Amino acid sequence: MTVQLSTLLAQSGNRKDDRTGAISVPIYQTASFGHPALGQSTGFDYSRTSNPTRLALEETLAAADGGVKGFAFASGLAAIDAVLHLFRSGDRIIVTEDPYGGTVRLFEKVFRPLGIDAIYVDTSELKAVEEALKYPGVKGIFVETPTNPLLKIADIRGISALAKPRNILTIVDNTFLTPVFQKPLVLGADIAVYSATKYLSGHNDVVAGAVVVGTTELAERIGFYQNAIGAILGPQDSWLVIRGLKTLPLRLHKQQENAQRIASWLSTHPRVRLVRYPGLAQHPGRDILTRENIGFGSMISFEVDAASRVAKILSGVKVFLFAESLGGVESLITYPAVQTHTDLDPIVRNRLGINDRLLRLSVGIEDVNDLISDLEAVL
Ligand SMILES: *Cc1c(COP(=O)(O)O)cnc(C)c1O
Repeated sequence: MTVQLSTLLAQSGNRKDDRTGAISVPIYQTASFGHPALGQSTGFDYSRTSNPTRLALEETLAAADGGVKGFAFASGLAAIDAVLHLFRSGDRIIVTEDPYGGTVRLFEKVFRPLGIDAIYVDTSELKAVEEALKYPGVKGIFVETPTNPLLKIADIRGISALAKPRNILTIVDNTFLTPVFQKPLVLGADIAVYSATKYLSGHNDVVAGAVVVGTTELAERIGFYQNAIGAILGPQDSWLVIRGLKTLPLRLHKQQENAQRIASWLSTHPRVRLVRYPGLAQHPGRDILTRENIGFGSMISFEVDAASRVAKILSGVKVFLFAESLGGVESLITYPAVQTHTDLDPIVRNRLGINDRLLRLSVGIEDVNDLISDLEAVL
């Protein structure tokens, strides 16, 4: 029987232990597995290759995204690293121009020296993606949507339609929306990647990553790299992500509701110049999200009227916590120009709109009135 996503996630990892009937999947804290006899296996040999707790997570991830197979990694960057091993020297990859800072570092400092070149484009412009396809050797498109921190929206269906006939892989970093709000594989992408550190686990207590693929061929290749490189997620952390996934839809809907209220409130504040939130009527690309029935998420960025106000805001908040990362139940505030995007060239940063007046909110599940009062007091 196929069930709805919230049912699937609530029962993630359940019914895995017939012997005891344990509801929660056991944490199989073992490196190796005994063999019944020569030439026989329980299905598990060594935990780098496969572990029952990690497998329970990987099965849930695959089902949630409508994929063929899921893979759990030690971090979001380890997940992206495994995917980039699909490419060879001389290949080019079209990449969203304002992705997560660590993604740029991976492309620039690890893969460019190996001969794999990133071409950065504004992937929220389908025309810009099409234009970049004219470069020789393009083998992949790596799309982050919505982007961080500018929340630009890409048309995954449109991009995949350009890529597929040219035998180009479409990879989507779906960290911000998760399968609750956006299913890249259903929209035509080949691979979805996640920092499970963020919404999937949702409690700021674990660093983890995931890859979900849409074909058995990709499943074999990613499975090979997962085992060959070995940046796997351990059983304890796999269990924590499973625990987080059970409440993913509940959390995300509450966080989105809070974010919508905060974004609307910020939009009317005299000291706020610009609010970027995909749920606001004027947000560019919102039509794509509504057309595909995608949610808006709970990340907001906004510009205050003067950079001199920023320090006081960051040290004055009492409910929001001034910290990096995002996606957890607790609300966080960050200063992208200084914290998450310092690696970017200042000229590029300003051109993109990541200026010294821009603040980013990751909205949690707290009472929204407390969150608004907190911002009101510091603004
Ligand atoms: C955090 C993040 C990553 C990196 O994930 P880690 O778990 O920190 O390695 C990648 N992509 C996005 C969109 C992120 O927010």
